[in-house]
Amino acid sequence: MEDYKTRLVTDSAGEEIARYMNEGQARRRIQWLIEKLTALDSVTSFDELFRSPIRRAINRELARHTYYLSLLPHGSTQSARLRFMWNNGADDVGKLLPTIMQIAAAGKLNRLRQCDGECGRWLFAKHGLKRTCPECQAAHAKAHRKTKKFQKDRAKYMKKYRDENYRKPVSKEGKIA
Ligand SMILES: [Zn+2]
Repeated sequence: MEDYKTRLVTDSAGEEIARYMNEGQARRRIQWLIEKLTALDSVTSFDELFRSPIRRAINRELARHTYYLSLLPHGSTQSARLRFMWNNGADDVGKLLPTIMQIAAAGKLNRLRQCDGECGRWLFAKHGLKRTCPECQAAHAKAHRKTKKFQKDRAKYMKKYRDENYRKPVSKEGKIA
């Protein structure tokens, strides 16, 4: 049996799942898996993990998917060779499972999250703390700059208004009374 931990998890693996979570059909089942797997992240005791009802629930879901080896030609029409390939069935969950397990085993599943900004789309955060997609971040920064400019303009206007309307009375000698 292959240990997924030994494989390198690339950003593209996470992005593949995020893309699916924004457009795919079996989103709710995948989200359920992501949530359950993430919930086990903080548990490190062998016994606790072994007894965990969450682990059992995940295993029940995993048992629904069968993978079998097929021998298929691989290459071009001119030069092809036979190759053993994993056939993961027709359903989307089955197709994405190896990638999800790979990300989970690397402890990076918590980076798969929904954008905190307006869009709420799924993203695979490159940094653990990032919670907003680049588009929402840019929009937020733009709005912030606008607010700053607005505040500056407003302050300028108020100063001009005060200067014009509440000018302190000046005596004949030109001194402020
Ligand atoms: Zn966003």
